Amino acid sequence: PKIQVVTLKSILQPLTDEFSWLADQKQLKLRTHFGEWQVQSDSTYLRRILQNILSNAIKYTTSGQVMLSCRKRGTQLLLQIWDTGPGVAEHELKRIFDDFYRVDSTARGQQGVGLGLAVVQRMTKLLGHKLEVRSRVGKGTVFSLYLPLASEQAIIEEKAVADSQNAALPHWQVL
Ligand code: ATP
Ligand code: MG
Repeated sequence: PKIQVVTLKSILQPLTDEFSWLADQKQLKLRTHFGEWQVQSDSTYLRRILQNILSNAIKYTTSGQVMLSCRKRGTQLLLQIWDTGPGVAEHELKRIFDDFYRVDSTARGQQGVGLGLAVVQRMTKLLGHKLEVRSRVGKGTVFSLYLPLASEQAIIEEKAVADSQNAALPHWQVL
């Protein structure tokens, strides 16, 4: 991965748009509050992580709502994805991150191979982000992802690099 300043909205707006039709079809409320945060991450990895968690939340929830929220926690941004789905029993909670592991009772009848969360776990480790999951059977599940907030300095440096790259374009390429 390549850690850079990532504007969360640029990932979350398209993802929300992509999933809203599915939520509508299932008559689930999809509520997202993502604000204007900038974090230090890899946008390709982060998109995949959020896509996998969000797709599960919508896939396994049959009624109620799926919610995505962001708030500041010190130097970190806490991004949470909540659902009112079937939940996962305590003893299975660690195993859902294993390759090809699917919880029989909930995964039956749903498409999938059991790799989504394995990918999520590997990618969050590579990025150095912290991921937590809490769940209660019959109530729902919440995934919490902690992302380092981009400091003012990091944003300024990123912009300086982008500007210098633009400036370095030979003018004969600019038509
Ligand atoms: P895919 O590889 O297509 O993602 P999958 O969704 O079955 O297949 P994972 O995303 O790795 O695989 O999830 C593993 C299992 O964890 C699921 O099969 C399901 O049993 C359980 N699970 C994951 N997310 C939730 C959730 N939000 N609520 C309830 N169960 C979940
Ligand atoms: Mg999945």
